[in-house]
Amino acid sequence: MHPAIAWIADELAALDAGHLRRAVRSITPLLGGRCHLNGRELVNFGSNDYLGLASDPRLIEAVAEVSNAGSGASPLVTGYGPWHDRLEAALAAFEGTAAAIVFPSGYAANLGTVAALADGACSIYFDRLIHASLVDGARSARSARLQVFPHNDASALRELLQKDAGRLEKKLVLTDSIFSMDGDVAPLVELCDICDEMGAMLLVDEAHATGVLGAGGRGVCELLGVEHRVPIRVGTLSKAIGVQGGFVVGERSLIDWLRNRARTQFFSTALSPVLCAASVQSLEIIREEPWRRERIPQMRDRVLNVLHELGFTPPHSIIGPNIPVVLGEVDRVLEASRLLEQAGLFVPAIRPPSVKEGTARLRISLNAAHDDDAVQRLIDGLRRVLVAGTDGRAAHATESSTLT
Ligand code: PMP
Repeated sequence: MHPAIAWIADELAALDAGHLRRAVRSITPLLGGRCHLNGRELVNFGSNDYLGLASDPRLIEAVAEVSNAGSGASPLVTGYGPWHDRLEAALAAFEGTAAAIVFPSGYAANLGTVAALADGACSIYFDRLIHASLVDGARSARSARLQVFPHNDASALRELLQKDAGRLEKKLVLTDSIFSMDGDVAPLVELCDICDEMGAMLLVDEAHATGVLGAGGRGVCELLGVEHRVPIRVGTLSKAIGVQGGFVVGERSLIDWLRNRARTQFFSTALSPVLCAASVQSLEIIREEPWRRERIPQMRDRVLNVLHELGFTPPHSIIGPNIPVVLGEVDRVLEASRLLEQAGLFVPAIRPPSVKEGTARLRISLNAAHDDDAVQRLIDGLRRVLVAGTDGRAAHATESSTLT
């Protein structure tokens, strides 16, 4: 071991002691929302492939039209080509905006966009539970002043902005639309009202809602009728769209600014054209096959009814594809996840630091490709595991995730 990095082994041993060391598991996705893990076939309730498109043969066929695997350079050098143009045009058309810009990931989209918008003097106000990529974006805006408001508390945001009414710098408000660890939804109408009133820019991260929510799949902004009131909408190609990459949609001036100032976009090699082609195809399928997003609420209601019956109703109303089952202690959630795996179900255990101490949980992610039998197996598994372990059940926390 190199002496300069010997401290790492000690830190890892401390993580082991608290059952908090994570490791990747090699999982092979299969059709039908299933996967292979450790030589067994499981129903996969851990993937963000909410519409079951990641293994759709039509995406693979679309990729065959592409002549180069890599883009070869960053966007402002020679990295952009016809597939980037096609994808950005398809995203703008899908989202009903003037323009779109593609990033290497959703993480990069949030990081680069927040920093680019907070250029110069800026106060950034953010929900305590926004995704780490938005927090990191806010932290990387060196001259910005950061203000955190309690989760989904629009009145607290209003108070902060009113207190700062005399300050001359730009104001930027950040929120996720669906908070994936808790499955709850941001009060976007109230946030739009407040931002309009106080002259603040509102950025909404639709990572878990694009493709899934809204009649056209344009997320919570569409569902709540505020698409045209939110000036900065971020999404990912990596979840319901089933591919990889991130994007921002909005007015042309916003997109042109990001092309000039979003460092995570133009200092990184442009997204592979392979991913662009697959994403264009996926957007077409999402438009043509609304049954995929319509299936999610049916499955969700079946699962929620059973959780309610077992005394594990989530603390917030759930409108997206993620359902938390808060069990409390890490050991308990690891055991529940292990028992479900034995029953042929992959349901990940989510533990600190992804969520607050004492609120470790199972997180069920639904997938339109799951058939009724898969959902029934989940329900049977939950009945067995949750009923067997009800001693010492944790009280549900109302705010459970942490920032990091
Ligand atoms: N925003 C949210 C709310 C997310 O959950 C995630 C991914 N977990 C991201 C952004 C980052 O997206 P990507 O995986 O495409 O980097």
